[in-house]
Amino acid sequence: MRVKALITGGAGFIGSHLADLLLERGHQVLLLDDLSTGSHRNIEHLVGRPDVEFVLGSILNADLLDDCVARSDTVFHLAAAVGVQLIVEKPLESLATNLRGSELVFEKAHKYGTRILITSTSEIYGKNTSDRLSEEDDRILGSPLKSRWSYSEAKAIDEILAYTYWRQKGLRSVIVRLFNTVGPRQTGHYGMVIPRFVNQALRGEAITVYGDGTQQRCFCHVGDVVRALIDLVEHEEAYGRVFNLGGTEEVSIMELAERVIARTGSSSGVRVIPYDEAYEAGFEDMQRRVPDTTRAHELVGFAPTHSLDDIIDAVVADQRS
Ligand code: UDP
Repeated sequence: MRVKALITGGAGFIGSHLADLLLERGHQVLLLDDLSTGSHRNIEHLVGRPDVEFVLGSILNADLLDDCVARSDTVFHLAAAVGVQLIVEKPLESLATNLRGSELVFEKAHKYGTRILITSTSEIYGKNTSDRLSEEDDRILGSPLKSRWSYSEAKAIDEILAYTYWRQKGLRSVIVRLFNTVGPRQTGHYGMVIPRFVNQALRGEAITVYGDGTQQRCFCHVGDVVRALIDLVEHEEAYGRVFNLGGTEEVSIMELAERVIARTGSSSGVRVIPYDEAYEAGFEDMQRRVPDTTRAHELVGFAPTHSLDDIIDAVVADQRS
């Protein structure tokens, strides 16, 4: 079977939604995942289909990766250590996946001339709190010895790899910076705020707001994101370029906690926890992160279709089921 799309991290939250949409569009998928943060539950509805192949293994296994890329004509490189909490707790493992793993994936994509999209992160911009972060904006980072910034550095190297393979070797590669993507199947285990708040609200536990809760984010539904990933990798003019993808509705984390309590009808209260206690001593958060998505809008018509309330409701429904 000639597989069309290889998704590294295919059993992850975003990878599994991407697989669903690719299949809906008639493509075949090969899902490579070591189930370190991904879950078999995310893809159990797909396994057994003739157009789906699941390979259990790591992108760090060069021979396995070689075989997977050889049988694909598009690579979506999503396998990565993600989630601020995970990065802080397992910095070495995270670096291995995000640096060595990505280097191998690009090497193989180049060997077979396979077009590739890599998901990067809004962490790239660090503490830049500009009104709308656009792709050419400066990065403002703390010390690389702080785990959070080491993640940003590793992802920046991934972007440089993607770009340099395009410039120097003509490898068709696209870079996407994801801003707070949310939806069904996302787990709160690695720190992501909306699944955590929903879980706490449904259990009637206190909602854990870190810092003072004035920090702001824009959340985007995973369905909007995966559509854009496919549209971008298929667009000739996307190669060698970077695109922000994210929502536009800005909300403070305290307001988010109140919104989750209201929409679940929960009796939970809010517990404010200092950053040092929530993460590690000296932890630095981003106060504000708002994407400018004009570039993706102009090239492939990217426009989020879900409001924040829709997103919260989708996560609530998922966790209730
Ligand atoms: N956060 C929080 N309580 C939690 C988990 C996260 O207040 O239980 C905060 C976190 O400190 C950050 C925001 O919610 O300010 C978004 O966190 P997340 O890890 O989802 O994404 P980030 O934007 O940090 O990458």
